[in-house]
Amino acid sequence: MRAEPSGINTARLKEDFLDLVCIPSPSRHEGAIARRLETILRDMGVIVEVDEAGERLGGETGNLLARFAGTRPEAPPFLLSSHMDTVGPAGAIHPVVDGDIVRTDKTSVLGGDDKAGIVAILEAIRALRECAIPHGDIELVLTICEESGLRGAKHFDTGRLRSRRGLVLDVDGVSELITRAPAANHLSVTIHGLAAHAGICPEQGLSAVQIAAEAIAGMRLGRVDEETTANLGVIQGGLATNIVPDRVVVRGETRSLSVEKLEAQTAHMRQRFEAAASGREVLVGDRVHRAETKVEVRRQYQALDVSDDASIVRLVRGAAAAAGRACRTRATGGGSDANVFAARGIEVANLGCGMREIHTVNEWVDLRDVAVTAELVLGTVRLNAAP
Ligand SMILES: [Zn+2]
Repeated sequence: MRAEPSGINTARLKEDFLDLVCIPSPSRHEGAIARRLETILRDMGVIVEVDEAGERLGGETGNLLARFAGTRPEAPPFLLSSHMDTVGPAGAIHPVVDGDIVRTDKTSVLGGDDKAGIVAILEAIRALRECAIPHGDIELVLTICEESGLRGAKHFDTGRLRSRRGLVLDVDGVSELITRAPAANHLSVTIHGLAAHAGICPEQGLSAVQIAAEAIAGMRLGRVDEETTANLGVIQGGLATNIVPDRVVVRGETRSLSVEKLEAQTAHMRQRFEAAASGREVLVGDRVHRAETKVEVRRQYQALDVSDDASIVRLVRGAAAAAGRACRTRATGGGSDANVFAARGIEVANLGCGMREIHTVNEWVDLRDVAVTAELVLGTVRLNAAP
């Protein structure tokens, strides 16, 4: 066994990582990885609770909660969290190991997102205990269905937690802390036109495809400004080339670090759809048919916005400094479970854990980055308990 001065055991970390990445765990199919993690956690001497989120989401398991008793009970409890699910393709995973670099054989994702986070947490906790480093209680939450809209975390009852601060490990980079992440709105738009035979009487129809096209052509999409993005990702409609299409459904999203900008962009998208449909009407027989647009907006998650002066940032920076590293804070355009925990009043930031080129079959991990991450987690938990 190779033990680093920090107490992080890199051989064990590598073994854990390869063990976990070989277990496919696409969203709602986290059963096998959850059982494996339950075994690992029980071997570490803790009780694992599984919540009801799995039943609510139609998945194989719920979120896992494990509580590690601290050696300094007076220290504030600390939350650590990563997600168990991965994006696809993840039918079978064959990691290709080259020293400390782990890649895939290009037929699947690696799942370092977010197993690098899980492994860094497990190794940090093991090292803390082996080195008898004083620490407060640790609450470990391993979620399901993060990749399908943070749904596991949303269904997790944070009332079960005593921690008021903590870290989510679920972002690329190393020794970097995400303190700002966008709020997001989901838009579902249904455009109703009127069907007619496209060759015989097109003037008796109202084309929902054409209305959608007009709305979208004049819409600000993509990178709206440095804090705001927007995308229409799904468009469905029409039945046949000889029918004027009477229904189109468009689904999209917008995100922004600024809630004002988020609302402005949402209003713009809504207005484009409504304006394109407005005034479109056709007289068939003695009846006037009007095109209609229904826009449904749902807040997917709230923004993450942690000040650089927040205690969690000071703790992580202190841990980085103790390890001879710098730790910069930054914003991201992606949401994570940290957004959900933050919205429920926990001071939480998202620590980079070494995953690279995520959500692609080119995904890879440098295990040295995961070891650094484990060291930072260990240092943060140690400082959190410092008198
Ligand atoms: Zn992730």
